[in-house]
Amino acid sequence: MSIKTDVLVVGSGAAGLTAALNLAETHKVAVIAKGALGDTASARAQGGIAAVLEEGDSFEAHVEDTMIAGAGLNDRQVVEHVVSQAPRAIARLIELGVPFASENGALHLTREGGHSHRRIVHVADATGWAISQALEAAAAKHPNITLVPDMVAIDLITGRHAQEFSTSGAVHGLYAWSRKKKRVEALTARATILATGGAGRTYLYSTAPRGATGDGIAMAWRAGCRVSNMEFMQFHPTCLYNLEVKNFLITEAVRGEGGQLKLPPGVKGAGTRFMPRFDKRAELAPRDIVARAIDHEIKRLGLDYVHLDISHREPEFVKAHFPNIRDKLLGLGIDITREPIPVVPAQHYTCGGVVVDLDGCTDAPGLYAAGEVTQSGLHGANRLASNSLLECVVFGEAAAQHIAASWDALPVVPSIRAWDESRVTDSDEEVVIAQTWGEIRRMMWNYVGIVRTTKRLERAKRRIDMLRQEVTDYYRNFRVTPDLIELRNLVEVADLIIRSALSRHESRGLHYTLDYPEKLAEARDTVLVP
Ligand SMILES: Cc1cc2nc3c(=O)[nH]c(=O)nc-3n(C[C@H](O)[C@H](O)[C@H](O)COP(=O)(O)OP(=O)(O)OC[C@H]3O[C@@H](n4cnc5c(N)ncnc54)[C@H](O)[C@@H]3O)c2cc1C
Repeated sequence: MSIKTDVLVVGSGAAGLTAALNLAETHKVAVIAKGALGDTASARAQGGIAAVLEEGDSFEAHVEDTMIAGAGLNDRQVVEHVVSQAPRAIARLIELGVPFASENGALHLTREGGHSHRRIVHVADATGWAISQALEAAAAKHPNITLVPDMVAIDLITGRHAQEFSTSGAVHGLYAWSRKKKRVEALTARATILATGGAGRTYLYSTAPRGATGDGIAMAWRAGCRVSNMEFMQFHPTCLYNLEVKNFLITEAVRGEGGQLKLPPGVKGAGTRFMPRFDKRAELAPRDIVARAIDHEIKRLGLDYVHLDISHREPEFVKAHFPNIRDKLLGLGIDITREPIPVVPAQHYTCGGVVVDLDGCTDAPGLYAAGEVTQSGLHGANRLASNSLLECVVFGEAAAQHIAASWDALPVVPSIRAWDESRVTDSDEEVVIAQTWGEIRRMMWNYVGIVRTTKRLERAKRRIDMLRQEVTDYYRNFRVTPDLIELRNLVEVADLIIRSALSRHESRGLHYTLDYPEKLAEARDTVLVP
């Protein structure tokens, strides 16, 4: 055994580190990350974290805004709980040293789409980075926390991996690939917390980090846990279109400051705005409407991208308002003060995931989950901006508290078998992995994207069944590598998304299908049972 610990946390984002810090006073905790500790969606969050702090605002208003965004599919009890915990969560982050912006001695609050009040606490436009820095610094100096980067979790350890085989569904840790030691190790613990983030990389374009391949969702599913609402994928309308850089977000503020969406050269109507045809608010329509309109134009005209143009504004204004975007794009040969930006919508947030209760408990004893990997009931069919970091902090703490309170009842770790690689060989066809990876992401983009049809979903299902078989054979016969581990999860999660989308016969929130454009009278979660 390389690591034997009390609690194993998989993920070094906001959810994982919050859980670790809440347990460390009483328990030994190991936090693993598949790459560098800071390579998380948490560190990329720009806008901020929502909490009721303004005079005149109320918990009820935050609850209502969340329920409206979630198209009635949210669990009201969960929403009320999370919203009521938000001010305390902010206070704890401040205690940890997060330098939230303030004005005249009070926290500075911004307002984002869907919020009826100013309630977004932020650190300029790099809130996630500041929160991650503070959490990581506190975790690094805690004697009871061991931070282990470059450790890629493969599968959860259950009774069937014990020396004495059992059919118990309890989880006792996991097998992981150590990038440093280049071998698989068994990491055991009384409690395991999945905080592995979302599954954005199932799609060709995504703002999520490279490692967002839905590993936690796939691992929990294979271990017998229910997975819910996977059809609700949030797409951001404007991500840079570039063959190399596939995840650079162009903030909505560009449209807010007058940026116009136009058809690119080479088609009828090139250089004209198209948003006024879709919504009277044009470029300022809500995210999902803009994303759908761009998708429509791209598919209708067979385009690779559309243009987002802010070059009609004064160069000094553009430079002052969007210094980071300008610098980044200049490096790629695009001067946004003089020319338009090629953009596509991109996957941005995974609303569905592993089913958890208010304590972060999954269906498997000893297994907890927190953050974007979960379907907690908070987001429903669409996430309200800045509620996700909040969910990470609230559920990270809840899981920690439940583990501490029920320690004696948690499953005892049996003697575990070492990983057996005696029947496999090294692959001589690494190209298969790269090819299949690309195929899945492009297929999901084209067939299971923003606007869906049953025909396209069925086509996707046939293809994913075939790819799944190929990946399973490959996994059985060849030694694991980080890319193969991710590919196996990617194909699993893609299948869960397609099955969920096929089973929803309505359009609600982020799931929009031309075959069922109306909303059904009753709002129901899609729950897949292994
Ligand atoms: C560009 C961008 C901007 C955003 N802006 C906001 C915002 O302003 N406000 C807001 O509330 N939300 C925002 N979000 C969403 C929010 O950032 C995420 O939902 C949240 O940070 C997820 O945190 P997490 O702890 O669940 O996962 P993450 O922060 O993604 O961390 C996942 C961790 O799991 C590890 N991991 C994954 N798989 C494995 C494996 N197999 N083995 C070992 N480790 C593994 C990773 O290495 C990583 O450490 C934004 C997201 C993006 C991408």
